[in-house]
Amino acid sequence: MSDATFPTIAGFCNSHSHAFQRLLRGHVQRRDPARRDTFWTWREKMYDLAGTLDLQGIEDASRLCFIECLEAGYTAVGEFHYLHHDRQGQAWSDPTAASRAVIRAARQAGIRITLLWTVYAQGGHTQSLGPEQSRFGVQSIDNVWREIDALMGTQDGEFVNLGIALHSVRAVPRAWMQPLASGARSRGLPIHAHVSEQRREVDECREQMGLSPVALLATEGVLGPNFTAVHATWLDDTDLTLLKDHNAIVCICPTTEGDLGDGIPRTAALHEAGIRICIGSDSHAIIDPFAELRALEYQARATTERRCVLVDETGHVAPALTAIGHTHGYASLGLSAEGDAVTVNAKARVFDGNAEPMGTLMTAGHPGIIDQVRVGGELRVREGRWLEG
Ligand SMILES: [Zn+2]
Repeated sequence: MSDATFPTIAGFCNSHSHAFQRLLRGHVQRRDPARRDTFWTWREKMYDLAGTLDLQGIEDASRLCFIECLEAGYTAVGEFHYLHHDRQGQAWSDPTAASRAVIRAARQAGIRITLLWTVYAQGGHTQSLGPEQSRFGVQSIDNVWREIDALMGTQDGEFVNLGIALHSVRAVPRAWMQPLASGARSRGLPIHAHVSEQRREVDECREQMGLSPVALLATEGVLGPNFTAVHATWLDDTDLTLLKDHNAIVCICPTTEGDLGDGIPRTAALHEAGIRICIGSDSHAIIDPFAELRALEYQARATTERRCVLVDETGHVAPALTAIGHTHGYASLGLSAEGDAVTVNAKARVFDGNAEPMGTLMTAGHPGIIDQVRVGGELRVREGRWLEG
């Protein structure tokens, strides 16, 4: 296959990231023989890691993560950021210091970022924050806007954007939801939230609020075209209809959800309902957009016992995956994609003997076949390696 016939593909968008969790990779793959290993036991280890990082550690971990994202073909990232305070849970002298460190890391790496300033105010529907969550906490809605408004100057309309995240329905008081959503809309900010990742959180929400997490967010006016539901693993039919009716986006993170044993989302039903799906590498157990997209399609196949499910109107799976890998992701982050592109090495072995490169990318693509990555027209990766400075 000649270079001339090989398409340059759009840059991938990583709509859900916790960059510091990149440091967990490899350290959380051992089962404690004394108990059942679950998302909730993994979370304890994640809290332990979060408790060790100072400002420089947050910045260094973020830069490492973002560079790996670029080498994997991601040209934009949505950083769901909740390490707001120092290791003792106290405010830094500049309360926005950690947010600025993450943004600085993205600029140094050369990736576009939407910093999703994350509201985390309680440990559960009826629980205050635990000591291990004190770094994440915020005391009032006024504090949320004070910090976000202080960061507004970091936006440049091209490479850095801001958004707000409600950590989850368990971590944000119900009375805060509507004011936060309307404040976000008046500022033009995208809104993200972890939604229905674990069955336990859905059950607790139904018990405490009498509604599913999606229905609660709808009732409080949070859903809309600028809202992205992250995970959305355990949806019922009503949830699906609500997401569709509000033109919300769903961000699925298949490799992390697989790593955490979250469950299998209703990928085929979401796609067939016309709900926009995007992807995220979340905990960064692996950073590989091809793996995320392939897993989505295979989830859809496994649950419908059909093939080629996430297709476009011509029936081809690859263009739909471009929409999921790129277009919907950029929409979820409110970012420009001008000049973002990935060039694949057409001489890579996976293409030998194959006539349809996009179909091959879908089934056999991986970051090792990436040659160049451009962000805003600037070359950030060449021969698969990040270009410093
Ligand atoms: Zn997350």
